[in-house]
Amino acid sequence: MTGLKSLIGQQRPARILCNALINGRIPHALLFTGEDGVGKRTAAIELAGICNCADTSNAEPDPGEPEQSPAACGKCRSCRKIQGGTHPEVHIIKPSGANIRIDQVRSLYQSIALKPDEASKRFVIIADAHLMNREAGNALLKVLEEPPEATFFILTAPDTQDLLPTIVSRCRHIRFNPIPQKDLEKYLADHCALETDHAMIIASLARGSLARAIDMSSEDWISRRNFVIDRLEQLPLQSGAFRHAFAELLAADRDKLEGIFEIMKNWYRDLAVFFHSPEKVYNRDLHEQIRSALQQTCFPRILGKADAVTRAEKVLAGNANIRLALDVLVDELAE
Ligand SMILES: [Zn+2]
Repeated sequence: MTGLKSLIGQQRPARILCNALINGRIPHALLFTGEDGVGKRTAAIELAGICNCADTSNAEPDPGEPEQSPAACGKCRSCRKIQGGTHPEVHIIKPSGANIRIDQVRSLYQSIALKPDEASKRFVIIADAHLMNREAGNALLKVLEEPPEATFFILTAPDTQDLLPTIVSRCRHIRFNPIPQKDLEKYLADHCALETDHAMIIASLARGSLARAIDMSSEDWISRRNFVIDRLEQLPLQSGAFRHAFAELLAADRDKLEGIFEIMKNWYRDLAVFFHSPEKVYNRDLHEQIRSALQQTCFPRILGKADAVTRAEKVLAGNANIRLALDVLVDELAE
């Protein structure tokens, strides 16, 4: 833990939280919204850490030093427990299966019924709060209406409209925007040992999510992207056996499919965008390949293929036969 100012590309949320800490006015219920991987949960845990850190020397920064911000020491018992996920007063609730269920909220009731011990501030972090079913949401609302002493709730969700309006109105809402590309680039170069070129490509394809950027940099993602795009470009020229083999390859690893669909969608998106705004393509290193691909196709066909990918994604989100769905997709992409 190194303080709220170290959140990547989230100066505004960091500033709001720092001010709340400095003024000793942390709202009892906070709602952090934004896409996955932009730092919502990190900020929540950081806040719990600062409020519970035993080393108070950083808690109230010198007003003469505007660059300082409250920070947890990272070494005391409390900080170590929070880092290890074992602090008795920091509760993290996340979906069990597809939802956050009523029994999870009920067992939270029980664990927060007693006052926290004097040294602690209790934090309840509800990650992906939009996945609370209605019953769980209503149960939580009751707690938010009469929050127990020294207890702070932090909910995270993609957007306010995904939650019950009555819950949103009880919370101080802080929006986490997508992380600017240059901040992602710098993080990847500094922390993931990526070369400048690769950091730039991944930062532009991660669409503002640090988690996505780190995932992409931790494996040989660029080679996979190149492979998939090469296959897409060869499909219309190749035999049925080639298509079959490609569909089989895709079907072999269902866990990777989401990432591969993402690569496909970004590729067709880039082909469509390149006509008018070549500077806006995501695959910034592939200008030549995009240009030559565009000589073989036309705008309606590109849109049709992008739609086919989205359709396949939807079909596979249900319990469809994976091989069949991919055969259909690959045939559509070969046209
Ligand atoms: Zn500490």
